[in-house]
Amino acid sequence: MKKQMLLCMAALSFSAVSAQTYETRFARPLSDVLNDVAARFQVRLKYDIDTVGCILPYADFRIRPYSLEETLTNVLSPFDYKFVKQSDTVYKLKPYEYARRTDVDGEKMLSYLSGLYTDKDQWEQRTEILRKEVRQRLGLDDMLKGTVKDAKPILSKVRKFDGYTVQNFALETLPGLYVCGSVYAPRSKGKHALIICPNGHFGQGRYRKDQQQRMATLARMGAICVDYDLYGWGESALQVGAEAHHTSDAHTIQAMNGLLILDDMLANRKDIDPARIGVNGGSGGGTQTVLLTVLDDRFTAAAPVVSLASHFDGGCPCESGKPIQLAGGGTCNAELAALFAPRPMLVVSDGGDWTATVPRLEYPYLQRIYGFYGATDKVSNVHLPKERHDFGPNKRNAVYDFFIDVFGLDRRMLDESKVTIESENALKSFGEKGEKLPAGALRYKE
Ligand SMILES: [Zn+2]
Repeated sequence: MKKQMLLCMAALSFSAVSAQTYETRFARPLSDVLNDVAARFQVRLKYDIDTVGCILPYADFRIRPYSLEETLTNVLSPFDYKFVKQSDTVYKLKPYEYARRTDVDGEKMLSYLSGLYTDKDQWEQRTEILRKEVRQRLGLDDMLKGTVKDAKPILSKVRKFDGYTVQNFALETLPGLYVCGSVYAPRSKGKHALIICPNGHFGQGRYRKDQQQRMATLARMGAICVDYDLYGWGESALQVGAEAHHTSDAHTIQAMNGLLILDDMLANRKDIDPARIGVNGGSGGGTQTVLLTVLDDRFTAAAPVVSLASHFDGGCPCESGKPIQLAGGGTCNAELAALFAPRPMLVVSDGGDWTATVPRLEYPYLQRIYGFYGATDKVSNVHLPKERHDFGPNKRNAVYDFFIDVFGLDRRMLDESKVTIESENALKSFGEKGEKLPAGALRYKE
């Protein structure tokens, strides 16, 4: 209380420099201090923080005339704020982000983790702890206890295209709750690889053009590909509303959806080769890709795209809503990805997002773990330094090359121009406005 009184008194008298005394703890409004800092160092400060009412004690003593960044750290840390350098002259001020750290933090974390295991035995002891704790922290097994057993998916008519087919499905997971998606399948006969494709947060979700191009192209080459809505996105919003996506349950439910779809596909289709089960997604879908491989050992090849980093867990609650990164006394997505060793993994990264560190940090770390199995060549990295955060053609081509290689897909069928882009409504199970939602299905009411 006394401290607050002092701060209030300081707020009333801050305008006069002479009022900065020992008695007022040399306090000044944060906004004034930041204006001074910007002027002193000739930079622009962009705000994603609220400075109203923020009074900074010992304000000018926190300034380091020789270092802008040390100054910003000193000035912002009492309020749990931080800065991100956007260019030499622009800095963005942000609230603390528990899921996002710095490249330097990532480097230190990987160095620490690497010290925990020096051979395969030590590593495998670590993997047991991580697998167990990630499940617990995600609350997965509790949720799985409540799922609908042997649910039969609602299937649309099969639509036939050049070298592939598409069929929509709606699978009841928890009672009254459905996950909707589409199955892209080759038109050729025989046993096919299966690739589960969790989504990220790119606009239009699984309906977007580059998603359809990737799913259909992989299908044309011989892999059955399944995508599905994020929780609260697409047709899921009919049931739970869009805001449900921003809950910790989204983290568990999306993981559950991926696993139940895999169960369903293996139980109900006779044309899947269980020795070739892949998982691939971009951005948040890459985060889910890694998580699914931690939770289920049926996957035999994995390709997280523009997501993997040691210093970023994924900023959406569907990626970091449950504290899985605290497993094993502290972990990170790079270590969770390493649990996939020695099975084939492709990491796609670019120079325009947090994956810019992959060639320098995460990939060498993964290679070391794969090396415990004599399988360094089974983990690969396609890094596109001039590209940004998307699932563009070069990233899709990297994914095609990978699955051609590890699953023996037919490269002669690689031709995105043969893909028919369908309308959003064509990819839905419950109709344009949800008019086909089954009786007994949850319905979202505003
Ligand atoms: Zn999300």
